[in-house]
Amino acid sequence: MQNISLQLKRLSVSILVFIFAITVITVNPLSAKALTASSTSCISQVTLAQGTKYATDLYIIDSGKPGPVVMIVGGVHGNEPAGYTAAAEITDWQIEKGTLLVLPQANKLADNKNVRYLSSVGDLNRDFPQSSKESADNTLSKAIWSAVKKYDVDWLMDMHEGYDYYKNSSSSSVGQSLIYYPNSSTKTMASKIVSNLNGGISTSYKKFSLLKYPVKGSLARAAGQYLGVHSFIFETCDNPGLSIRVNYQLKAAKTLLHELDMM
Ligand SMILES: [Zn+2]
Repeated sequence: MQNISLQLKRLSVSILVFIFAITVITVNPLSAKALTASSTSCISQVTLAQGTKYATDLYIIDSGKPGPVVMIVGGVHGNEPAGYTAAAEITDWQIEKGTLLVLPQANKLADNKNVRYLSSVGDLNRDFPQSSKESADNTLSKAIWSAVKKYDVDWLMDMHEGYDYYKNSSSSSVGQSLIYYPNSSTKTMASKIVSNLNGGISTSYKKFSLLKYPVKGSLARAAGQYLGVHSFIFETCDNPGLSIRVNYQLKAAKTLLHELDMM
């Protein structure tokens, strides 16, 4: 008898847990949304510069629905960890339309050594075409440049860090800035990202500045100028703790995708 009543008790607890789970899934719109999104986005991976020491993975998050192609790049400079840490997190984001390409460790060798660049490659952010007829400088930049063209990228965000706040007049660093190439509608998007971030920052010199013209030879400059991509470099200042900087990078990426109705 005792065994039977114990089993009945266990059964009724199981039923209650089941009913609770069903209620949460159907009533909570966030859970429902996540389930829908994960069932439609397909994540795949290709290797750029495959078979060379520069080999690095590109993640392709395909919503299965038409929409913009957005590329997010981290780790161009190996001593700027907020970019590649944030980009790594983005590799499993879900989107509702278009395609999200994520290259978390553009310069994986430099990232692994925590150096800005390796002398064998030079500064990867100066290796991209500086005229419409020029090609990228080396194996790694050629592979990244080919991917931007192959996937017909519409928007490109390149994640970087500076050693000081741009608004600190004593320094020439571009930390806490968004540097865009002025194609149509890029400025509107850039302004939205900066104002969204600045809404959460109370100290004025820590606020993000809107700048234009990414440096010549940078991926963002070349993509904006020669391929018509809406492109920008996003720079956090590396003074606060890493998690704060990573959150700025993630918030900027999220704002971009949200404004494009992809999230
Ligand atoms: Zn950088």
